[in-house]
Amino acid sequence: MDELRFVIVDDAVFMRTLLKKMIEEVDNYKVVGEGSNGFEAIEQAKILKPDIMTLDITMPEMDGIKAVKDIVKCSPNTRIIMVSAMGQQSMVIEAIKMGAKDFVVKPFEKSRVLQAIKNVTNI
Ligand SMILES: [Mg+2]
Repeated sequence: MDELRFVIVDDAVFMRTLLKKMIEEVDNYKVVGEGSNGFEAIEQAKILKPDIMTLDITMPEMDGIKAVKDIVKCSPNTRIIMVSAMGQQSMVIEAIKMGAKDFVVKPFEKSRVLQAIKNVTNI
């Protein structure tokens, strides 16, 4: 299997660290970039064109929802997995309508994250 390249976007460092650890425990899964707001997400999508981006919803400067459209425009092959908190279902639905492919709800289990990755890679 070819390497799968990830960018992780979340304003909380501990959340990026946790996701990176879960992802990189899998052979061939490589985190190539990180961001802490929507602007950085768009920038990373433009530069790195990752296979998968995990995108937090609640972030300062620009939230994840506002970034989805531009990420899809800059890097149409990047599959976006939204990372939401409980009670953000309507925002998740909005993100899916704009092109995000799946979502995980915090706090999440590693198995759910890996399942979401499988879901979006099989599209
Ligand atoms: Mg956040």
